[in-house]
Amino acid sequence: MAANSKIALVTGGSRGLGKNMAISIAKKGIDVVLTYNSNKDEADKVVAQIEALGQKAFALQLDTSNVKAFDDFVGKMTGHLQEKTGSPNFDFLINNAGTALYAPFAETTEQQFDYVMNIHYKGVFFLTQKALPFLNNGGRIINISSGLARFSFPGSSAYGSMKGAIETLTRYLAKELGPRGIAANIVAPGAIETDFGGGHVRDDEATNKQIASVTALGRVGLPDDIGGVVAFLCTEDAKWINGQRIEVSGGMML
Ligand code: NDP
Repeated sequence: MAANSKIALVTGGSRGLGKNMAISIAKKGIDVVLTYNSNKDEADKVVAQIEALGQKAFALQLDTSNVKAFDDFVGKMTGHLQEKTGSPNFDFLINNAGTALYAPFAETTEQQFDYVMNIHYKGVFFLTQKALPFLNNGGRIINISSGLARFSFPGSSAYGSMKGAIETLTRYLAKELGPRGIAANIVAPGAIETDFGGGHVRDDEATNKQIASVTALGRVGLPDDIGGVVAFLCTEDAKWINGQRIEVSGGMML
């Protein structure tokens, strides 16, 4: 971390969309802290890619479904930042980490519901709360939602409604943090080819074709369709965007 660079925290930056976000953000001249849940090797590779771009980066383990781990995580991250930059603060919080749940409403168990809630809603709520004292005034929060919060596909009732909850939360963040000059926005990707949900959007030909057929631009999304939008929201050019939901889906289910 360099004392004169802005710094972004990207949760779930080891793979998929978060990896693309972390690299795209580094290309804007911003240093990156990224988290992984279990894939330290992949996270280290992303750190190396960012360093090759001339930015500073480090990776820390974090299970965003475990609120009890957050104080320790925030302590570690801010300790590293203090050591490297002389300040524990950072500028951009990107709440991206997450996993899929495909289960029909009638069959969704309480355990599945709690897991999705912990990762996609409770974790985002309390990680943001605990990180807030260290987010510089004028900083930004970007919460990653999903097209599934706007349109409904069978099997995503729990997941889609948690994403809906963080969309509402984001507008409250924008309202309450405005006095500190902190903007909060939502990026809602359409279906993207990643490991998400066992990689079924990428690897299942029928699913891939079906999604392409309901997408105005005629294909499924790729990680590179998303990271640049998140990186843009971390730039000066995006300074007046606040409390908005930006869907990045190639025009899915219009
Ligand atoms: P991937 O499965 O490709 O990557 C998931 C990332 O999240 C990894 O970095 C993983 O870390 C991390 N992660 C998983 N579980 C946890 C956990 N319990 N605590 C902390 N980190 C965790 O998913 P995507 O990149 O596709 O998804 C990223 C975000 O985008 C999610 O919020 C998802 O809901 C959203 N999204 C995805 C869409 C898609 O079609 N792909 C569409 C719309 C939204 P590790 O590598 O260590 O496992």
